[in-house]
Amino acid sequence: MSKRQLAMVMDLNKCIGCQTCTVACKTQWTNRNGREYMYWNNVETYPGTGYPKNWMELGGGFDAAGDLQAGVVPNIEADYGVPWDYNHDELQFGEQLKPNVDPTWGPNWDEDEGAGNFPSDNYFFYIPRICNHCTNPGCLSACPRDAIFKRDQDGVVLVDLDRCQGYRYCIAGCPYKKIYFNPKISKSEKCILCFPRIEKGLPPACAQQCVGRIRFVGFLDDEEGQVHKLVHKYKVALPLRSDYGTQPNVYYVPPTEAPPKFDAEGRVIEGSNRIPIEELEKLFGKEVHQAIKTIKEEKEKRKKTGESELMDILIAYQHSEMFRLDQN
Ligand code: SF4
Ligand code: SF4
Repeated sequence: MSKRQLAMVMDLNKCIGCQTCTVACKTQWTNRNGREYMYWNNVETYPGTGYPKNWMELGGGFDAAGDLQAGVVPNIEADYGVPWDYNHDELQFGEQLKPNVDPTWGPNWDEDEGAGNFPSDNYFFYIPRICNHCTNPGCLSACPRDAIFKRDQDGVVLVDLDRCQGYRYCIAGCPYKKIYFNPKISKSEKCILCFPRIEKGLPPACAQQCVGRIRFVGFLDDEEGQVHKLVHKYKVALPLRSDYGTQPNVYYVPPTEAPPKFDAEGRVIEGSNRIPIEELEKLFGKEVHQAIKTIKEEKEKRKKTGESELMDILIAYQHSEMFRLDQN
């Protein structure tokens, strides 16, 4: 375990699926040198198959006894999809826009598809995903070369490329499938939480560029910080699939703002919520009930009294206040 742990909180009520975070990460880190198919940050539609395809079903992580579970290494072509380009240069000669390969899968392949029946109870929401910089990383435990380590000062999980031999056990061991194989250098690579920016007191590019202001970044033990308050004080930010046993350090404020359902005559069913609570339980555990209750209570308190620290934090008036990266 590291001395301190940086964490990110993402408020799913505010993500608009614009992919600005994805582009910020891609242009900074993964648009070249064998990383083209990688998305260290991706935003997927839930319910959906995600990226890589069906990642929640691919094993890894730990069982209740703490034993590492067998996992699958996704296939680049079938499960991530080969990156493609378009014939922009030919458009001026009358050609139609078309991809240069016949794509069969890619990030965001099933964007906005959702579930349920229109217009009565259809729904979807977005889940942005990065490496969770877990306290008990499956990737690290699976590596026979001790090539993966956690930094003491902030808990960022990194690959030592000098030690990595490209065995890919780490990819099988990560239940979130957030570590990738670089075929060009035969080594594994992953989100580095923009640590060169962190060391300068700047947030990761995905958080800095987030137009929805959904991302908070700070140390979990910083009691004055918004991350600590959301995770520990109000307990409204929860880890994704904590049942995988890796103790992830990315936390999510669950979606509470879905519209109500309609009945067969198209009338609003008062008090209903079209996101099934079982789905939220699957993602965020039983704690999601209390988290949603707390958010609703604080919203009412704010309406009645004009005051609520939690609402002030979630509204995110000042983008700069969402980041507290002082390492001292
Ligand atoms: Fe490792 Fe996966 Fe956890 Fe990231 S999310 S630290 S790659 S186990
Ligand atoms: Fe969601 Fe922010 Fe990413 Fe847009 S930039 S998709 S709002 S996390």
